[in-house]
Amino acid sequence: MKRHIIWDALRSILNPSTTKYPKKSFIPPDGYRGAAEYDSEKCVGCAACSQECPSGAITYDDEEKARVIKLSYGICSFCGRCEEICPWDAVHLTKRFELAVFNRKDAETGVDVPFFECTECSRPFFPSPQMKASIEKVRETLEKYKIKQNELASLISVCPTCSFSVDKMPERRMFLRRLVE
Ligand code: SF4
Ligand code: SF4
Repeated sequence: MKRHIIWDALRSILNPSTTKYPKKSFIPPDGYRGAAEYDSEKCVGCAACSQECPSGAITYDDEEKARVIKLSYGICSFCGRCEEICPWDAVHLTKRFELAVFNRKDAETGVDVPFFECTECSRPFFPSPQMKASIEKVRETLEKYKIKQNELASLISVCPTCSFSVDKMPERRMFLRRLVE
């Protein structure tokens, strides 16, 4: 029995079961769920990832000019739900796993998405990329109803307060009538 243990120990010296990390860098296998990263080119600021994150690791703040989305690695459980549900393929789990930091603020990632300004009162009110992406998404429907993209854009580019202004109402009613007719 003892000879067997010594033999196993000698064999593990020649052929170790563990890697030499951290002396030698370690590359996790494909499918490894490490630190999530945002793609600022693709993120439209819809905040769906924040709504769906089961750990509450993703938060967002609507600041004056932009929606600020933050993801805290200290709270993240690396479940991959954000990547799974993002309609714009804008957040991905990477193979990065060395996340120890001295300052909690350094264990964060995120993205700032600029707001679109209301064409009536100039108040920023909606993520600009989300507005453009939404119009693009309904392009086929617009063509079906013979509505031009800039026509829709001009109607939805007013903030909720201005959208109820008396001046805009007849135009809006006519637009909606064309959709339901
Ligand atoms: S990462 Fe995806 S789900 Fe999250 S805000 Fe950006 S576009 Fe929306
Ligand atoms: S991986 Fe899971 S826990 Fe981490 S931010 Fe994404 S949804 Fe939240």
